[in-house]
Amino acid sequence: MKGNRVSIVRFGTRQGRKSEVYLNWGIYGIPDAPIGMDYFFWVIHTADGPILVDTGFSTEGGERRARTFLTHPKDAFESLGLTAESRPEVLVTHAHYDHIGNLDAFPKSRVTIAAAELEFWTSGMEHRRQFHHSVEDAELAELRSVRDEGRIRTFENEIEIADGVRMLRVGGHTPGQSIVLVDTAEGTVALASDAVHYYEEYEQDFPFAFVADLPAMYAAFDLLHDLEATGRVQHVVSGHDPSTLDRFRRLHDGPLPGDIAEIG
Ligand SMILES: [Zn+2]
Repeated sequence: MKGNRVSIVRFGTRQGRKSEVYLNWGIYGIPDAPIGMDYFFWVIHTADGPILVDTGFSTEGGERRARTFLTHPKDAFESLGLTAESRPEVLVTHAHYDHIGNLDAFPKSRVTIAAAELEFWTSGMEHRRQFHHSVEDAELAELRSVRDEGRIRTFENEIEIADGVRMLRVGGHTPGQSIVLVDTAEGTVALASDAVHYYEEYEQDFPFAFVADLPAMYAAFDLLHDLEATGRVQHVVSGHDPSTLDRFRRLHDGPLPGDIAEIG
């Protein structure tokens, strides 16, 4: 569907170091260096209404980790017209705190998530410290409530969400890590979410430090490279790279000046 448009919305940021964001940084023989990390959610504007991809981090999740709120995601949803009553379709790329905080802002929305992701975070494994580090118990409880209310839709490997909008499970970072492909007038956009935190991660083959399945993480890089090489994807949108907004058409007017970029 050529009428689809994608908004990349930045709501948070922090400073880190390469040695903490890339897996086993020491093996590359490259000096450590500071690296920023931005936090985004994404909106797909379709003929049938907006689709929200992830819901950012919550007050608790962000403050507990000393993240900087550029704006609160809930305020950003409001200013973009994404209200509980408007029931936007919600896609969850994975259940980490910075992607499912604020799910409670949409108590009437249908939520789509890979079956493997939902299963993993309700399997007991979410209590192990290496995994628990990246989640908030209250937010996993909210996800279970969504499931128990019958508002969740799961899929195995791929699902068509709308005309020209597909969600694919790639795994790696988490068992059900997903990407979203959106056909637009400017070509197909891959919302990579945390299958690609950083463009350097993807281009230099530096896996991210937090990983459930390393071969699957590498395979996700391969899949995206193949989609680009074969002309099936024209734009890869990273999950956290601070250069992301500047790679696309950055909006300085309207809500959240400077923190939104658009494609399509
Ligand atoms: Zn993330």
